[in-house]
Amino acid sequence: MDIWLAIFIVGIFLSPFILPLMLWIVVTTVNFMKDAISDVIYNIKGRLDNQRCMRRQRRLERLSDAEKACLAMQGDRSALELITNRDELEQILQKAEDEYIRQMACGKLGHQWNGCVCKTCGVKNIFAARDMHQWDYCVCKICGVEAPDAIHDWELINQESTESESDEWYGGHMVRMTSVTEIKTYRCRHCGREYQDSQSYT
Ligand SMILES: [Zn+2]
Ligand SMILES: [Zn+2]
Ligand SMILES: [Zn+2]
Repeated sequence: MDIWLAIFIVGIFLSPFILPLMLWIVVTTVNFMKDAISDVIYNIKGRLDNQRCMRRQRRLERLSDAEKACLAMQGDRSALELITNRDELEQILQKAEDEYIRQMACGKLGHQWNGCVCKTCGVKNIFAARDMHQWDYCVCKICGVEAPDAIHDWELINQESTESESDEWYGGHMVRMTSVTEIKTYRCRHCGREYQDSQSYT
């Protein structure tokens, strides 16, 4: 038999598979390329965003303190971060509308602590040392932080119980067991903090 005839016959048998195979190869390649291209675009975009941020930072650094103060007044925290002139900071502390911006300016000038609260801007420091707070039973009455050794005055405000059933192997038999979970909610009469206590029994 002629070799070419053999190839022709095999070709006819395989022909239904060749078209789907080629289609599969094309689709897979296109998908792969699409993913690769979108990865590249994503990376370039990330780098551009980074560069934009750095350019903005450099532009900010070149501004005068008065110009930075102007931006800070409008709520620009990174401009405020760069101001060194105390007069500008004083101006911001007195005139900025945003409370957080005023407190940041005060922080750069140095807060005037009276216990756990700043006399100038009113910012509270819940991390102040223990004797900087004014304790009122379980909380500081100035900043509201909970005392490290708080003794709360708990009052039971809610009580719920749920029942659940399960089959358990007990003494050679399957026994239906009922278990009850009781959840009690307490609230401190003094500071309003809450806690839950749950107990299960069968
Ligand atoms: Zn302050
Ligand atoms: Zn306090
Ligand atoms: Zn309490």
